[in-house]
Amino acid sequence: MVTFAKMPELRLNLLTREWVIIQTERAKKPEEFRQRREKRYVPEVVESCPFCPGNENKTPPEIMRLPADGKWRVRVTPNKFAALLAEGERVRINEGLKHLVSGIGKHEVIIESAKHNVGLAQLGVEEIMDVLNVYKLRFTEVFKDPRVEHAIIFKNHGLASGTTIQHPHSQLIGTPVTPLQVRNRMDEAMRYFDNTGDCLVCAILRDEIKDGKRIILDTKHFVTFIPYAALSAFHTWIFPKRHAASFAFITDEEIEDLAYNLKMTLSKLYFGLDDPDFNYVVRSNGPFRFRSEYLHWYISIVPRLIQTAGFELGSGMYMNASIPEEVAAFMRGVKVS
Ligand SMILES: [Zn+2]
Ligand SMILES: [Zn+2]
Repeated sequence: MVTFAKMPELRLNLLTREWVIIQTERAKKPEEFRQRREKRYVPEVVESCPFCPGNENKTPPEIMRLPADGKWRVRVTPNKFAALLAEGERVRINEGLKHLVSGIGKHEVIIESAKHNVGLAQLGVEEIMDVLNVYKLRFTEVFKDPRVEHAIIFKNHGLASGTTIQHPHSQLIGTPVTPLQVRNRMDEAMRYFDNTGDCLVCAILRDEIKDGKRIILDTKHFVTFIPYAALSAFHTWIFPKRHAASFAFITDEEIEDLAYNLKMTLSKLYFGLDDPDFNYVVRSNGPFRFRSEYLHWYISIVPRLIQTAGFELGSGMYMNASIPEEVAAFMRGVKVS
């Protein structure tokens, strides 16, 4: 690998064409990102929490639960403070330079456990499989609504991630338009396919496995690694090995393996960095359109260890005060107990 010793490196994220400055000469050691948190006792059930068992009437009427009757392990409800409304027509108005679409779509909350005081890192692989199975069901379902053009599943963990509710949950938002970020990624994937006849994600996967330096886990169906041009410290990608445009096509066997990859990665973050705040996003196309040779879904995990500032805002370029290869080596070494 080409490197510039003792000099910052600008690395290009090929999926997004975003440049990142790897601050080689003043990079922090991975362990220096460890959070120094005060441990606080949190009970398993919190009376005031709308997602805790016993408070089911504090959420809007439930969409589904697992299992279907009795004590639930996973529940899905509409978001009480939905960003987009479920009812209404998708209307588009273009008036001169003002472009408008009615704010309809889907905004659901996936409550990942009946226990208030756990994170995904503390759940078992089987419990995470439940959550992933629900993701798959709901993700497929929202795309059946013709008003929905794109959908994102994401998780906010901890205050710095933007969440205010501690109870473990993720969200699904189906939008009536395709966000610019998604269009850019599609454009890049299509351009790469035009030039090479290959899927860019499949190509990156082969390259990362061959290189090996940034790999955290390499299992039967998934590879978890630190991207070459990681946008921030501990930015992690989980790529499925089988080419598939949509998360909705994941098989039962792959769900089990993905649950293991998520459990291990989040546990390594939990033990290695003392429960950092993080977001993750399932970056996927819908199951009904865009069934293509060049689109390949994946998961991106971004620990919120530093705040982005004016430079990122003004340039769309990122600064990473860690070295991806060192972070991957650190993550490989974290023991999960
Ligand atoms: Zn709760
Ligand atoms: Zn692919």
